[in-house]
Amino acid sequence: MQRRPDFGEAPRLRQDRIIIQVKFACCRVAERRQSSQKDTIKRSQCYHVSPMKPKRPKSAADRQKRVNEILARLDQRFPAAQCALRHSNAWELLVATILSAQCTDERVNQVTPGLFRKYPTVKDFAAVKPEVLAQDIRSTGFFNNKAKSIAGAAQKILSAYGGEVPRTMEEMLSIPGVARKTANVVLGTAYGIASGVVVDTHVQRIAQRLDLTGNTDPNKIEQDLMKTVPQDKWIVFSHQLIHFGRQICQARKPKCPECPLADLCYSKDKRLTA
Ligand code: SF4
Repeated sequence: MQRRPDFGEAPRLRQDRIIIQVKFACCRVAERRQSSQKDTIKRSQCYHVSPMKPKRPKSAADRQKRVNEILARLDQRFPAAQCALRHSNAWELLVATILSAQCTDERVNQVTPGLFRKYPTVKDFAAVKPEVLAQDIRSTGFFNNKAKSIAGAAQKILSAYGGEVPRTMEEMLSIPGVARKTANVVLGTAYGIASGVVVDTHVQRIAQRLDLTGNTDPNKIEQDLMKTVPQDKWIVFSHQLIHFGRQICQARKPKCPECPLADLCYSKDKRLTA
């Protein structure tokens, strides 16, 4: 049955609409207030975490002073930074470094003890077929290329260097699968020879964030670091930055509020809240 119109309904509907509109407006005001309160809290947290907005040093002397301060704080925070790859000699470190490309050190450290038991000498690695070796290192990824590099490196070291990993950058670079980064790791960590600075993904990112380089190419970044970091710091500096990158200045979410270099950092990636 059709409902008869109620003449009091129209004004009531209008009234209801007005009430709804007023309520809606009130909600929006409350929301705005809440979000502005949140902003204030955030701003106060920022200020609490890092009141300083460091300026870029203008003179060469100020730039060097800042670098020295960075080095001193890294020494303080990571006094015993070392290479995380397990090894007992230069050859094992070379193999572990080749395996660590695109792979975590933890994974490499799981694979290498068994690998070095199976192939105890450079000769053993030189004699094994790359396709067999590839199966032993499968879990480290890119195993076919890595197997070729390791077997090739063993053969070169055996034929050209009497089975000993060489001690100069030039000789290291003649070995298959070895570029400057790997050579720097082996020369620095196994022999204590400061031939350069290891530039891995952590060092690359942090050097850029800390404005120690304006380059993106690892070789150019290394040259920049070699100019500003004193040579007697090259080896430990690389290890410190790698630890710093893993623990604090992480790629996606740098932990700036707990960073010991926050007041020296003017990176656009700096995050003032946790
Ligand atoms: S303040 Fe942040 S971005 Fe800057 S070095 Fe520290 S962790 Fe990295």
